[in-house]
Amino acid sequence: MNSAPNAPLAPENPALTGIDVASRLPSAVANAPLFKRNSFGFDVQAEWALSITSAAQLQATMDIILAAGWPWRVLGGGSNVILPSFLPGITLLMDIAGQAIQEESADGTLLSVGAGVNWHEFVTWTLDHDLPGLENLALIPGTVGAAPIQNIGAYGLEVGEYIQAVEAFDCATQSMVEMAASQCHFAYRDSIFKANPKRYIITRVDFVLPKAWSPRLHYADLAQAFSEVDQPSPEAIFVAVCRIRNRKLPDPKLIGNAGSFFQNPIVSHAQYEQLLKQFPNLVSYPEAGGQRKLAAGWMIDHCGFKGVRAGSVGVYENQALVLVHYGQGDAKAVLELAKTIQDEVHRTFGIDLLIEPIRY
Ligand SMILES: Cc1cc2nc3c(=O)[nH]c(=O)nc-3n(C[C@H](O)[C@H](O)[C@H](O)COP(=O)(O)OP(=O)(O)OC[C@H]3O[C@@H](n4cnc5c(N)ncnc54)[C@H](O)[C@@H]3O)c2cc1C
Repeated sequence: MNSAPNAPLAPENPALTGIDVASRLPSAVANAPLFKRNSFGFDVQAEWALSITSAAQLQATMDIILAAGWPWRVLGGGSNVILPSFLPGITLLMDIAGQAIQEESADGTLLSVGAGVNWHEFVTWTLDHDLPGLENLALIPGTVGAAPIQNIGAYGLEVGEYIQAVEAFDCATQSMVEMAASQCHFAYRDSIFKANPKRYIITRVDFVLPKAWSPRLHYADLAQAFSEVDQPSPEAIFVAVCRIRNRKLPDPKLIGNAGSFFQNPIVSHAQYEQLLKQFPNLVSYPEAGGQRKLAAGWMIDHCGFKGVRAGSVGVYENQALVLVHYGQGDAKAVLELAKTIQDEVHRTFGIDLLIEPIRY
């Protein structure tokens, strides 16, 4: 990585003039609706939106944006964001395509994938090419470029395990950088990209899928699905993950949501033991270093919120960790409901729930 860890970012100047944008970024679209680019389905409009289809275009665009001090942000599929009804300045829509096998060795296969590629289509493509490893992460909405941001994870697997390197535009040094996985600081729903918002714009992700593969089935739903199968194939796991997710999670095309709305809190073993005395049915999973990951959905359900509706928003009836939008609502409505839930969980368990999607 050729950048200093805490280099200052260029300040933004909200005094954006339409004439400037139109003349200097002629492909930018004014007053662009983002209804289809936020899975909550809120009625959102970008003052300007610009599709980014290559790293070179991104670099040239960012040089203009940063020099002008225009407000900006980047959006992938919009499945992990809470957007206000108006986004000032420029919204960059990450559309860099392309996926290719770069290298095959006896140990593994190196893949390079454009940041705008749809994540689930990429996982399907790997299995079509006989490259198992990512099947537990099937059906997670969004783009490949956003996957490293919160180190997406599901069913006992996190994407960081398979990432070799990330290519990004570094807004602090205004240059392209390539960061090895060890420099990305991957942790539970976290990374250097999430910790430094608006510093890095990811353009490409390189994955290594090892030749040696074994099924990852320790999460309860998967263990149950394969309780009578000795060695399920990656394809069978892919199908099972899709089936379980379709049963438990609402399809954003039918009902707005951003998946898990809260992170599962991680507590010390001592705090877990204390809670278990009071709540013997508490659901949790072991973590490294003797810590414990508590099931936030169980805690929310215990507080009586599952299926509760508050006007235009509510808590999903099949999974209390998911907040849903029924239509005609906005970010304010969902954040108000979230606050009510956070307060009650804190009152009951003494635990602070953190919101997972990024707020703008
Ligand atoms: C039904 C549903 C189920 C879900 N299940 C899971 C799950 O099981 N596990 C999980 O981890 N997540 C899950 N999510 C959350 C979401 O799918 C992931 O976080 C996904 O990676 C978001 O991708 P996106 O392209 O939609 O990102 P966006 O929502 O567009 O962006 C998210 C954040 O990343 C930034 N960003 C996006 N692209 C880039 C880029 N190229 N460079 C720099 N910054 C960027 C944005 O600025 C924003 O801050 C779920 C969401 C839904 C709706």
